[in-house]
Amino acid sequence: MKAPPLDRLVPEYIKRFEAYIPSKPDDELKKLYGCTRLFRLNNNENPLGPPPEAQEVIRRFPPPKTSIYPSGDAYHLRMKLAEKFGLHPDQFLVGNGANEVITFVIKAFCQEGDNIVTADKTFAVYEWVAEFSGYEARLVPLVDFGFDDESMLRRIDGRTKILFVCNPNNPTGTYWNKQKLRNFLDAVDGRQIVVVDEAYLEFVEDEDFPDGISLIKEYPNLVVFRTFSKMYALAGLRIGYLAGDLEVVDIIRRTCVVYSVNGVAQEAALAALDDKEHILRTRDMVRRGKELVCRELQLLGLPFVSGEGNFVMIKLPMSDTLAYRALMKKGVMIRTMTGFRFPNYIRLTISLADAMEAFVEALAGIIKTVSSEK
Ligand code: PMP
Repeated sequence: MKAPPLDRLVPEYIKRFEAYIPSKPDDELKKLYGCTRLFRLNNNENPLGPPPEAQEVIRRFPPPKTSIYPSGDAYHLRMKLAEKFGLHPDQFLVGNGANEVITFVIKAFCQEGDNIVTADKTFAVYEWVAEFSGYEARLVPLVDFGFDDESMLRRIDGRTKILFVCNPNNPTGTYWNKQKLRNFLDAVDGRQIVVVDEAYLEFVEDEDFPDGISLIKEYPNLVVFRTFSKMYALAGLRIGYLAGDLEVVDIIRRTCVVYSVNGVAQEAALAALDDKEHILRTRDMVRRGKELVCRELQLLGLPFVSGEGNFVMIKLPMSDTLAYRALMKKGVMIRTMTGFRFPNYIRLTISLADAMEAFVEALAGIIKTVSSEK
């Protein structure tokens, strides 16, 4: 059989696009780097695990039930979200992680020649989905590590369909407060869809942090993303959702492939939602972890960016890829930031004291080696 004529079959924007390569599984990494234990501090996971009730639901999930398709539209979870946020259940769409709902929105609004506007140094999936779907991603440089509202507004043209704001921003932890988000929404004046990605909202304690879902009634062009991967520690089950105006969500729904969210995830998410204790415990863990790490980084004389969320960005006096390998050999996995356009930076997930201490010790060793080589 002849090879398919890929040159003709593949669109130009796919030819240009490079696939994302995920990290290898832990057992393979341990073999590769010769370490016996591995602290995963690369994906902003919550080391406390899911809230106890969610854990119980997962434990009790009857294995034979896996032969049955889950609810195709996460019926019970949407009912619960509606009750919690005072909206209609049809104002929510649940996806296989917030990642999937990003694709729903882009597919629903963009066509050939359209563009989206977001920041140059933020969660990259908005940009990736736009680009591998053939749409332009207009990337506005951050200012003081934060989204630049004025410049984003200036990049809008007649073909701009969606503006993506990550609040708080991954990886810098900066955020727009209530007034700044309102001013932005007022300036957009309903002409484009504004997505506010609140993947890390539950970590933020500042009273002046805006709850996007409460603004949907006032701003029908606003779509808010949330996830169960971060605070609720259900990353492995892949579940997240969006909320928006009834008519807007009715459009977005046309692009969802139903049954993408499995039954265990739906039930665990439902059980996780009400656990306020879990949120307080996690915030406490993050506060302590950040204090420990930031104190040590100051002693090491390393610049860092520590905002909201369960992560800190650190600037190294060396290549982030080299630091990654050296840290891996010591059993600590971090995220290199070159891919986020922050060369020589790493992002560290805040975790329990043993992990933070292992990181600091490993990093101090690496920095010492680099300084003695200079
Ligand atoms: N948005 C942001 C800002 C994120 O950091 C992440 C995960 N890293 C996601 C969305 C996607 O989350 P998930 O697909 O796990 O729900």
